[in-house]
Amino acid sequence: MSYSKEVLRRAKLRLEEDNRKKQAEYEDNLNRAYTLRPRLREIDRELRTTAAGIVSVCFSRGQDPSLAIEQIKKKNLQLQEERQWILDEAEIPEDSLDDSPLCALCGGSGYRNGAMCECLHELCRQEQRHVLAPLFPTGRERFDTFSLDVYPDRYYPSIGTTPRNLMQKNLSFCKKYAADFSASSPSLLFSGATGLGKTFLSACIARQVTEKGFGVVYASAGQLFSDFENVKFDRADASTVEDYEAADLLILDDLGTEMTSPFVLAALYRLVNDRMLGKKPTLISTNLRPENLEARYGGQIASRLVGAYSLLVFEGEDIRMQR
Ligand SMILES: [Zn+2]
Repeated sequence: MSYSKEVLRRAKLRLEEDNRKKQAEYEDNLNRAYTLRPRLREIDRELRTTAAGIVSVCFSRGQDPSLAIEQIKKKNLQLQEERQWILDEAEIPEDSLDDSPLCALCGGSGYRNGAMCECLHELCRQEQRHVLAPLFPTGRERFDTFSLDVYPDRYYPSIGTTPRNLMQKNLSFCKKYAADFSASSPSLLFSGATGLGKTFLSACIARQVTEKGFGVVYASAGQLFSDFENVKFDRADASTVEDYEAADLLILDDLGTEMTSPFVLAALYRLVNDRMLGKKPTLISTNLRPENLEARYGGQIASRLVGAYSLLVFEGEDIRMQR
C-alpha cells in the first residue's frame, strides 16, 4: 500500500492536530477542575511524588525496600480514593479528565510495530477521497449508477456488436477489475471518443480501489505533463512527480488532448516504462484509437500501451449530449 506523499502529509497533519486538540481539551478540563476544587491539584502533585518515591526506593541499596513500598502504596490508594470522592461530590465526570492517548493501539503516533496503524489508515482514506474529489463531481460515480440505456442498442459494424453490449462487457470487466484489484493488477487502456463514460468508469474503479486502502493518484494528461515540466524547471517540488511514479494505481485521463512536444514524449515514455518495470498498474484513457497512438507518440510508447495494457474500447454517441 502506497499512499501518495501528499495524502500521507495531509493525514499526518490531521493526526497531529487531533492529538493536539485532545491534549488541549484535557488540559482545559483539568484546569477547570483545579479551579473548582483546588485540593485536586494538591492530590495530583502528591500522587506524582509517591510514584517517584516508589522508583527511588526501588533503586536504593542496602536495605529491603518492601516495607517502604507498602507504605507508599497505601498512601497512594488513600489519595486516589479522596480524589474520586471530590470528583463525585463536585460532579466532575471522570472521563473528562482522561489523558489516555487518542488511539490506544499506537498511542496516537499513527504507527505500531513499524506498520501504519488503522487510525492513520482511516485518515489517509479520507484525505485520498478529498484529493480525488475532481474525479467525483456528482458524488454518484458508482458502478450501480452507470446507465447502459444511453448506449445505442443497434448493431455497429465497426465493433461487430451494439454499443450497449460492448459497454455491458466493459462495465462487467471494470467491476471485476476493481473488486480484484491488487498491486500487481494489469494496466488498462480506455479508448474512445469524449463523453462515452471513460472518466466515469475510471472514477468508479478509483473509488473502490481507494476503499480497499490502495493509494490512487489521478491526473489529466494536461495536468500531469505540466507538473513534470514544473518539476524539471524547479517551479514545483519533486514529490508531485514522484507520486505519479509511486502510486498503487495511477489514472491518467484524456491522453491525446495535451500539446505534444519532445518533452511530453520523453516524460510519457519514462512514466509508462518505469511503471511497467515496477509492475505498477496504470489506467490510461484516451480519445485516440489504438491504431493512431503510434503516429502521435511513436512506436516505443505505442507498442507498450497496445502490447501490455488491457484494451477497452468505448463506442456510442456522446452521452453528455443526451442528458
Ligand atoms: Zn492508532
